[in-house]
Amino acid sequence: MSVVDVREKIPILKENSPRLVLGHIMRAGSISRADIARQTGLHRSTITRIVSALLAEGFVEEVGEGDIELGRRPVMLQLAADSVHVIGIAIESTFVAGVVANLNAQIREKVQVPLQDSSRDAVMDNVYFVIDSLLEGARKQGFSVLGIGVAMHGIVNSDQGISVFAPAIEWRDEPLAANIQSRYRLPVRMENNANAMALGEWWFGNGQTVENVLAVKVGSTIGSGVILGGRLFPGTDYSAGEIGHLTVLPGGPRCKCGNLGCLETVASTDAILKRGRELLQKGEAPSLMEYAPGEPGRLNFQSLYQATLAHDPIALRLWEEGAAYLGLALSYTINILNPAKVLIGGDIFPVLDYILPKVRETVGIQVIQTLKNHLRLEPVGLGQDSVTIGAATLLLQDIFELPKANGWDRT
Ligand SMILES: [Zn+2]
Repeated sequence: MSVVDVREKIPILKENSPRLVLGHIMRAGSISRADIARQTGLHRSTITRIVSALLAEGFVEEVGEGDIELGRRPVMLQLAADSVHVIGIAIESTFVAGVVANLNAQIREKVQVPLQDSSRDAVMDNVYFVIDSLLEGARKQGFSVLGIGVAMHGIVNSDQGISVFAPAIEWRDEPLAANIQSRYRLPVRMENNANAMALGEWWFGNGQTVENVLAVKVGSTIGSGVILGGRLFPGTDYSAGEIGHLTVLPGGPRCKCGNLGCLETVASTDAILKRGRELLQKGEAPSLMEYAPGEPGRLNFQSLYQATLAHDPIALRLWEEGAAYLGLALSYTINILNPAKVLIGGDIFPVLDYILPKVRETVGIQVIQTLKNHLRLEPVGLGQDSVTIGAATLLLQDIFELPKANGWDRT
């Protein structure tokens, strides 16, 4: 399948300089023509010409006047955020979610449906339902959608838009992007969900100011997306970042991958719930009983979350044990990649306050000093929308050419 670029639809964006100017405006929020010229090194007259074209196309708007400069106040420019809309969808093992996002990655529509049935047709019906609903919502608001970004769990061939392997729903070599593209006649981009999350965070979330970012998605599985030198690093077989299968407990529980003691077997939400149910079964978690009345199997993420908010000591201990293993796996990865930021998101997001202190403590012990000098370990900035915004970013990134990140690590 040939991946159609959103730039094909907007002729002015085929040139590099207008995209670079848009990138500077997006990162600055609002900026004068003179500052764009200064920062890009492009001639003032070139900037004037490009900005006029962007104003005429409606991508940029003039907003008031900035601080005094050379005796007069410059007119400031900002993105006309609702001049462009794209769809971002996340196909997870238990739900499909999607957003309509504008040029600033602000959400204008949002839909989520649970996946009750993991058969191929049921998954596709839900995917189409989510896209149809988002397109309808966009239409009602007068937005036209330029393209669809898809964040898919499992291994994704992002160049060809193929779901190579999605074990949770037993997909192999599914030409997902081609199917969506032919149904909606819109450009479609596809990426693994943790990679999409990393990309969204790097463009619009907590990873913006640095060029080396590790974004870890923790839920019923654990994966990560790696941004190195301002580029997503896919690996030779689109499989980089499989942090969930680092061995953190030699001889530990059997993992779906066949090995023993992978991070996923001790720190995923499924693993932590399983451990909680075991403690309930053995009568070793009396305080947790009220959150799973009568039946240990009733302990689910929601009830464990309630127990956590109530500071139930067993619930807190369960998260802390998982956090120690997560910290260990992160330490191995940090020692190799030397990222400036490690961002954690996924289903675990609501309980991160209870997890991060232990993760930071473990990383603090395990990672060597030089790698800690500039390291920040934080929650994702886009919260529970980080994957859908990341999917939308697959399209939005074609519109902008970003200025070099001005972080400490690669100036
Ligand atoms: Zn494994």
